[in-house]
Amino acid sequence: MPDRIPEILLAYEGEMTLKGLNRGRFESCLNKTIRSRLRGVGDCRITQAQSTVFIAPASPDFDMDEAERRLAHIFGLVRLSRAAVCEKDFAAICRTAEAYLGLALRAVRTFKVEAKRADKKFPMQSPELCRELGAHLLRCHPHLRVDVHDPQLEVMVEIREGGAYLHGPKREAAGGLPVGTSGRALNLLSGGIDSPVAAYMMARRGLALHHIHFASPPYTSARARQKVEALAGLVSEYTGDCTLFVVPYTAPQEYLRDHAPAEIFTVLMRRSMLRIAAAVTKRCELDALVTGESLAQVASQTLAALQCTDTAQQLPVLRPCIGMDKNEIIAVARRIGTFETSIQPYEDCCTIFTPPHPKTRPHLSEILAAEAAMPGLPALEAAAAEGVERVPVRIGEAPPF
Ligand code: ATP
Ligand code: MG
Repeated sequence: MPDRIPEILLAYEGEMTLKGLNRGRFESCLNKTIRSRLRGVGDCRITQAQSTVFIAPASPDFDMDEAERRLAHIFGLVRLSRAAVCEKDFAAICRTAEAYLGLALRAVRTFKVEAKRADKKFPMQSPELCRELGAHLLRCHPHLRVDVHDPQLEVMVEIREGGAYLHGPKREAAGGLPVGTSGRALNLLSGGIDSPVAAYMMARRGLALHHIHFASPPYTSARARQKVEALAGLVSEYTGDCTLFVVPYTAPQEYLRDHAPAEIFTVLMRRSMLRIAAAVTKRCELDALVTGESLAQVASQTLAALQCTDTAQQLPVLRPCIGMDKNEIIAVARRIGTFETSIQPYEDCCTIFTPPHPKTRPHLSEILAAEAAMPGLPALEAAAAEGVERVPVRIGEAPPF
């Protein structure tokens, strides 16, 4: 029995197989992401055939576990599995099946063998290969029974050009569409729970994302900003490398505090934030804005308030959390690993200067009238958009928080 069984990683493409003529573009985007995400885990050869990406280690230090972990976060892949590779020879297949899957077979009571023979030169046909390999495994594990309908373990053997592959169990991957195939957008990232989830959800639909964060020092601290940088780093496991734009928002916010009617302060501030975000979006040639807003979560997220916010600028505002309960958002945040950071108690600019009794049904006419009475605001917003700081966010380099 060999000491180390040569293994290969298999990644299965999902929804993109439905994309007809666009398929080539989807695949090239996915391959680019896979190549960049596997950088640093060792040399490997990446090939692609029939909706499957094959990742074959090409150096002894290739880290299979880390590669699998990273692939599980790449949108566009629905399943992953590992397979042991051996010569296309029946005796070698039996030996490898036992060495690779023997432990798993000992832990179950029922199994079945499936065979696929893409290489028709292999002398045994699929049914014969299934039968003979099944009989061999039954001799090795007399406690087992074959159940073709609902086996606890399926032993899959595939005869391909490059060798015989014995598949390990399949695991679910991230699903969705490859990042970059649906356009590019700017996500408004606060330090809260919702906006990292919003980024994850839109990246999953193929959007390439950058983030924008509004900071109002000294009212918001350096620590609050580090928290946002940490969140952007955590989400980059899904979005890939990106930029976090940090807006120096103190001056517009103080101006709003001093001039806006208290009960519509928050909606006026949200409009101001969206105008600045739109200016950055246009400068960077992105196509849309993303927020973590959820209908009726707070006064500024009622239908009337969102209507007022939306007319502040022209770009589409995507709100993937709009129909989700807080508990559902939290469940996603936990799954993607942002929850623990999000709940650290640091102030956000949206929570300073907020009035005790915000209006839940603001009228656009009163909003526009209030803005007309704040002639100093546009220049302050333009200066804030101009003074934006670019912080590079690199996968795996999230500053610990
Ligand atoms: P989160 O929604 O991220 O949990 P939150 O609930 O404290 O944080 P809300 O007041 O609900 O924030 O803000 C709604 C949305 O506005 C956020 O999801 C985010 O997209 C955006 N937002 C709020 N504050 C900021 C900020 N300081 N910088 C950038 N975007 C922000
Ligand atoms: Mg929120």
